[in-house]
Amino acid sequence: MPIATVNPATGETVRTFEPLGAEGIEERIDRAERTFRDYRRTGFDSRAALMTAAADLLDKERDDIARVMTLEMGKTLSAARAEAAKCAKAMRWYAANAERLLADEHPAEADVADSGAHRAFVRYRPLGVVLAVMPWNFPLWQVVRFAAPALMAGNTGLLKHASNVPQTALYLGDLFHRAGFPAGCFQTLLVGSGAIEGVLRDPRVAAATLTGSEGAGRAVASVAGDEIKPTVLELGGSDPFVVMPSAADELDHAVHTAVTARVQNNGQSCIAAKRFIVHDAVYDGFAERFRRAMGALVVGDPMSDRTDIGPLATEQGRADLEELVEDALARGARALCGAGRPEALRHGWYYQPTVLADVSPAMRIHREEAFGPVATLYRVPDLDTAVAVANDTPFGLSSNVWTRDTDEQRRFAADLEAGGVYFNGMTASHPALPFGGVKRSGYGRELSGHGIRAFCNVTTVWYG
Ligand code: NDP
Repeated sequence: MPIATVNPATGETVRTFEPLGAEGIEERIDRAERTFRDYRRTGFDSRAALMTAAADLLDKERDDIARVMTLEMGKTLSAARAEAAKCAKAMRWYAANAERLLADEHPAEADVADSGAHRAFVRYRPLGVVLAVMPWNFPLWQVVRFAAPALMAGNTGLLKHASNVPQTALYLGDLFHRAGFPAGCFQTLLVGSGAIEGVLRDPRVAAATLTGSEGAGRAVASVAGDEIKPTVLELGGSDPFVVMPSAADELDHAVHTAVTARVQNNGQSCIAAKRFIVHDAVYDGFAERFRRAMGALVVGDPMSDRTDIGPLATEQGRADLEELVEDALARGARALCGAGRPEALRHGWYYQPTVLADVSPAMRIHREEAFGPVATLYRVPDLDTAVAVANDTPFGLSSNVWTRDTDEQRRFAADLEAGGVYFNGMTASHPALPFGGVKRSGYGRELSGHGIRAFCNVTTVWYG
């Protein structure tokens, strides 16, 4: 894939970039490793001052970088602004909390009395140079979610961003540098995915984190496994959104949330609700309102304030989505709305918000991720079936359930196979809450204390 900014709203190639050669890569790995030797000894206060300076810059430059993101991957400008603001907030949260999250842990004396130590504790030390392979869908947030904790822990980072967001990638490297971080703390590598194996096998690189597709995750984790290097993988998702009868009184709220949860980021979010599993008692009311609300969304220019849904980020992404929908329709699904390109938008990679009913396990969309504004509806007779359908997927990122019944809540919280169970709302990441999945959605966690400790050497310090 060429490294280029291609405007998804027009299909026009705006700017292309030469990938870094072997020498450029070597220079950056070397700088990252040399910087780590000193940077790891800096205190939390000085790292926090740098991180706060980066957050201040980002807040100041929010509108400019938002426009770049929209140009490169088509999210609406308002969503891009919100993403930049969220990044600055997460940076401040880690600046304020990293020291507490990484404080030494002292086991109870009774627990270690027979260990032979007169004192023993756990210390979190940084691992070293961490390679981050990141996707285009939240081009700032995915990176900051890694960079803020990793840098606060004393690691240095190398960013291999998706090839279609090079300007956002360069901005990130520049942002941390202008904030005052030493030059090797966080660097962008403008390279294609073919260069990643060499970087990861380099002995100076200690670990990797990847957010993206299953295929990319498998490729990176295989090499890391071969090199015995730790990884965190955040892969795809096909999150369920279950609606139970006790939501009958707030069906409008549930539908409104369902629409937002499905079409956020033009439908290209790993934690988007994708499968809507609705109890028979409320199915008809939910399906009709959901169809109307999805059908009423405005598809168009992502730079316009009137737009709800912009284009998909890549032509291939739209082609993949079209194939999934066509396969479903050919196997008996019914389109309640959408299921095609908007006629009025001939240029750019637009797709209509779509609701499919009568979805069955024979269809690809039942088990594959629909990365665009396409929702599938399932009618279920009871809670057990709802849980079974929700879990009938290779993915396990997060899940959403609408019920006010506390017994039902207990069942869903115990039985849904996912890294999150969100009741009467929708999944959203938050700096203080862990984020990640099970099954084919990956492993490890980002954000919260779990995220910052993921790239630490958990060291036992023992005094005889
Ligand atoms: P890809 O997996 O193709 O791209 C993600 C990143 O991985 C890019 O930087 C890409 O580089 C790189 N990459 C791709 N193949 C390889 C490889 N073999 N070795 C090393 N690096 C590689 O993702 P998509 O562009 O298809 O993004 C959408 C997918 O990512 C969806 O499945 C989505 O759910 C998932 N995703 C998961 C998220 C989560 O948090 N769990 C968040 C966002 C997306 P290049 O661009 O150069 O190919």
